[in-house]
Amino acid sequence: MTGSQAAQRRERILTAAVRQRLIHPDDALLAAFVDLDGVTDTISALQRAFPDSVPVLHAFAAKANPLVPLLKELRRLGMGCEVASAGELAQALAAGFTPEQIVFDSPAKTRAELRQALELGVTVNADNFQELDRIDDILATRSSTSQIGVRINPQVGAGSIAGSSTATATSKFGIALEDDGNMERLLRAYRDRPWLTWVHAHVGSQGCPLDLIAQGIAKTVAFAEKVNADLGRRQIVGIDIGGGLPVDFDSDNTAPGFDTYVARLRAHAPALFTGEYRIVTEFGHSLLSKNGFTAAYVEYTKTSGQRQIAITHAGAQVAARTVFQPESWPLRVSAHHPTGANKTGPLVAQDIAGPLCFAGDLIARARPLPALAPGDIVALLDTGAYCFSAPFHFNTLPEPAVHGVRTGPDGDLRFELLRSAQTIDDLLGNSA
Ligand SMILES: *Cc1c(COP(=O)(O)O)cnc(C)c1O
Repeated sequence: MTGSQAAQRRERILTAAVRQRLIHPDDALLAAFVDLDGVTDTISALQRAFPDSVPVLHAFAAKANPLVPLLKELRRLGMGCEVASAGELAQALAAGFTPEQIVFDSPAKTRAELRQALELGVTVNADNFQELDRIDDILATRSSTSQIGVRINPQVGAGSIAGSSTATATSKFGIALEDDGNMERLLRAYRDRPWLTWVHAHVGSQGCPLDLIAQGIAKTVAFAEKVNADLGRRQIVGIDIGGGLPVDFDSDNTAPGFDTYVARLRAHAPALFTGEYRIVTEFGHSLLSKNGFTAAYVEYTKTSGQRQIAITHAGAQVAARTVFQPESWPLRVSAHHPTGANKTGPLVAQDIAGPLCFAGDLIARARPLPALAPGDIVALLDTGAYCFSAPFHFNTLPEPAVHGVRTGPDGDLRFELLRSAQTIDDLLGNSA
């Protein structure tokens, strides 16, 4: 889709949503949308990018958008699901994923969580040597059909966002491959545990160039080859390559695509594609970010000093990381008339502020946009991932509804509820 096609599609969704009162200045000041046609296209691009000769499970990283109806849709499209807590595991099971379609990664799995995962047969990637000992204890008392792997940290370094770089020399995740003695300990761990048949790495969740990610995966594949050569048997049968494909938050450009990434992987780690290893992927951002947006009414506009400010209903409660780390997580904003139609006109630098009671609650600073007026709508773009799953519960603001939308047989747009809006009573219920 070109940039203008994407803008037209959003305008169509927004005007239909206004007409259907899914967003309304009285009782729905804020609403989020997931374009399910876009999700279908993105997933088929992912599935096409990997050759048919290699068995692959594409496990969606649930933390990116764990709404159960959305997870169900992903399952219908042939995805698996990567989870990192008991809550996400419950969501994946509620969405109907079978245990074999679920991968459990977390650096802090409790004994109870491990027992549950191994009992169910969910794939488990152990984060550290102590976790492996816990798995030993559980397997001593019961057998399990789980595939079990170890998360290694290939220590290839950071991308441009420190907080989402997971393969630095000192990362909190996985077993650091190059630390003194770890290679020997890992080899022993595999030798002593014939059930340890997978290896996992995830280099970063945004900000990592493709070649850095591919280098990390190449080291992971080389590790698998070394273990198998040292043990004299093909014990490692599968490689989980994580996620992290970068998303362009500055435009409607969807490059680099999954096909580009697979080409980089082929260049750096050809052994991954011989068919000897099964592959798991764990993409989040790249599957959902660009297929969602969040719309909010402009309540007031004002100038303060020289500064033009639009006070809207979208702030840190729906875009926490953008508000708190604006350099790392910028979001595009589009301006719309009260009907939802795209607003045109001379561009004026405006701050797009949220409703929360702290000065830093800003989605964008000095953003050139057609002059906004009360009753207009702003849309925060590319919020399909890591927004609905990361609410900020300050000022007792409710979480907005999330609507899925797809094209019906007659070309009409059909909305379906993925999450209902929180009510004030819901919010009181937690603390009354
Ligand atoms: C967050 C995470 C992912 C997904 O990363 P994206 O950037 O959303 O693709 C995959 N695997 C693990 C282990 C993660 O923590």
